[in-house]
Amino acid sequence: MKSALKPLCLLCVLCGSVVCFSLNREAFSITNYDLNVQVEPGQHRMGVRGKITLRNDTPTPQKIAVLQISSSLDWRAIRAADKMLQFVTQPYTSDIDHTGSLSEAIVTLPQEIAPHATIDLDIAYEGVVVLDATRLTRIGTPEDAAKNTDWEQIDPNFTGLRGIGYVAWYPIATEVANLSEGDSLFAVTARWKQREAGASMRLQAELTTYNAEPPQILFNGVTCLLTMKESMGAISHFSWDCATQRLRLDVPTFVMTDYQVLERPAIEVRYLPGHDGAATNFADSAEKTSPLITDWFGAQREKAKVADHPDPNAAPFESGALLVTPFAYSDAKLSGLAATHQLTHASFLSFRPWIEEGLAHFAQALYLEQQKGRQAALDYMGLHRSSLTKIEPTTTALDSEQEKRRSLVNTVSEELYRSKAMCVWWMLRDMIGDAALKKAIAAYRPEQDTDTSYMQHLISAQTQRDLQWFFDDWVYHDRGLPDFKVESAFAAATATKSFLLTITLDNLGTAGAEVPVTIKFAGGEITKRIEVRAKSKATFRVETPAAPQEIRVNDGSVPETDLTNNTFKVDTPQS
Ligand SMILES: [Zn+2]
Repeated sequence: MKSALKPLCLLCVLCGSVVCFSLNREAFSITNYDLNVQVEPGQHRMGVRGKITLRNDTPTPQKIAVLQISSSLDWRAIRAADKMLQFVTQPYTSDIDHTGSLSEAIVTLPQEIAPHATIDLDIAYEGVVVLDATRLTRIGTPEDAAKNTDWEQIDPNFTGLRGIGYVAWYPIATEVANLSEGDSLFAVTARWKQREAGASMRLQAELTTYNAEPPQILFNGVTCLLTMKESMGAISHFSWDCATQRLRLDVPTFVMTDYQVLERPAIEVRYLPGHDGAATNFADSAEKTSPLITDWFGAQREKAKVADHPDPNAAPFESGALLVTPFAYSDAKLSGLAATHQLTHASFLSFRPWIEEGLAHFAQALYLEQQKGRQAALDYMGLHRSSLTKIEPTTTALDSEQEKRRSLVNTVSEELYRSKAMCVWWMLRDMIGDAALKKAIAAYRPEQDTDTSYMQHLISAQTQRDLQWFFDDWVYHDRGLPDFKVESAFAAATATKSFLLTITLDNLGTAGAEVPVTIKFAGGEITKRIEVRAKSKATFRVETPAAPQEIRVNDGSVPETDLTNNTFKVDTPQS
């Protein structure tokens, strides 16, 4: 149950007006963070002081701002230009945080902030971050599984804090997210990330400890610079400066632990004692896959980063070029796939998830193809395809609003922007060829990608083919999937003792595609690629040197709703 009444009462005290009923939690976005974080791992505690810049994103002036942090943290002070501001705090139930709740400060600003204008606030908050999976256990997730998923904590062994969507260790401002309501959490998180993309975050960290040697701090995978080291008796004091980072669509992530580092030109691997073997696997895999990734996605902009997680069952997590994953059970095959994915992120950058994540998964299929051939890549995509057939509409078409909302350019669903996008990239590659697709990727500039059709234009510049229908069915709308079926096939002997097979291919589905069709005959097979638009048929002829026996549509490279109607036995032709 969300507490709807309580905020209203508090607000009426605050400003005594009906206007407060329309409190807009997302009126402001935060464009700059400059935070000093004091970590006390022994007490699982952090204390944060710093400055943030709020920007009014609404078309009307705003006097009230909402700032939220995890419910296990408490607001201490909020100031503007050295003046203490009045604010009311309250718990706000939301699954955006692992505790299932936020400490919300409703702040009365010193003056109305005009649309697009900004205000700097000095803030202070503190509290503990311990393992807490309340938001998952309250919807029925078993405790162990829940704690493997929500692994945020401050602890002497390992401090790991992922940002929005996991633990609000830095201030955010969002409407309620509810895990039991479909994609609500993803939608709220995605909206916030979208508004924050391009914001800057700078961290300084401090630690007082009985250890003589400092741990390592990673901020979004970048190692923070140790700026001070002081010892007084048994106690040491350390300070770090974590260089300013522009936020991307990933989540600001803070990791502090005693890592050992294995560095190679393509990758930095951070591992915990005893995991040397897994670390070497990752580093070797990255070296092996690096030429393939460079060939497709250009030179690396940064090193890929992989960091160990001490809980062997912790859910892996990626943030840009960084992957946090337990090394305890990792094997060479998985590390190859993981390294390929992170190397792609280290080479290629897009703020659009279907491009950024879709290409990183597509690269994994390319890697498997290079290692073991096309079938291995198709089998890997098959795992993703099966999750896709579960969520894609089949018989009932979506209305036009749903078609747009679930499109690759708009979706917040991981299955769509990861699995479906991977298949879309693979189909594009099959349609236009490696060379053309590589050139389109090389021409991509994230700062120029201001229109959803930008990628289509880059690809169209490299091919004579009209791909508008394809982008319409797969990228700009969610039109579901194709469903191919051989409607009829007739074979006739020719004067030259070969056979002419006339095939009519029906696409019963709601999305068009170009699909491979393989004709088997005694002693061999021929494959043709046939374009069939949604709810359409295509008739074509194939000449075979011996009597055709069987037709097989779709080698698995095109996601399809029904694969059971894809083979057709050809009647032996009369000669
Ligand atoms: Zn990724």
